[in-house]
Amino acid sequence: MDFKEYIRVIPDYPQPGIRFKDITTLLKDGPAYRAAIEALKEKVAGLEIDLVAGPEARGFVVGAPLAIALGVGFVPIRKSGKLPSETIEASYDLEYGKDKLAIHTDSIKPGQKVLIADDLLATGGTIATTVNLIRQLGGEIVGAAFLIELGYLDGRDKIQGIEVSSLVTY
Ligand code: IMP
Repeated sequence: MDFKEYIRVIPDYPQPGIRFKDITTLLKDGPAYRAAIEALKEKVAGLEIDLVAGPEARGFVVGAPLAIALGVGFVPIRKSGKLPSETIEASYDLEYGKDKLAIHTDSIKPGQKVLIADDLLATGGTIATTVNLIRQLGGEIVGAAFLIELGYLDGRDKIQGIEVSSLVTY
């Protein structure tokens, strides 16, 4: 399936000059959404995975169904102040703006093998912060899976040594 056909590109959103990749057009198509999750599952088939972790909010839309498909648990990584129990936090720069992510301290046990999932790899700031939080808890990152990779932003360079899988590259 050519997943690019299901992704809508919105010029100048949320700021002039940004060509926003809108996955809502993929998500609303049941067979395409399912095929995308199955395709990601196949891409990570060789990895040993105990948990999938994904950052709010579109990381949930990719990570949770992928976790179910793999038969493992899902760990949500959320914006600061949203998780109810004890957390650790880390700040990061976005392609446009700044933010802070948090994870429950008891969500990952030392040595657990974690696959990270998100909708899109841009500069890599979000995923590098996710990696940082998981490693602080002693988790071992076995890979990172994305629907979309913006190759021209070189996000992979921020998570060197981690195997990156993506379905569509711009
Ligand atoms: P990064 O931290 O620069 O790699 O940006 C990736 C994060 O920003 C992901 O969590 C995406 O959800 C979001 N993001 C950045 N650009 C886009 C886009 O064009 N479409 C959808 N999400 C985007």
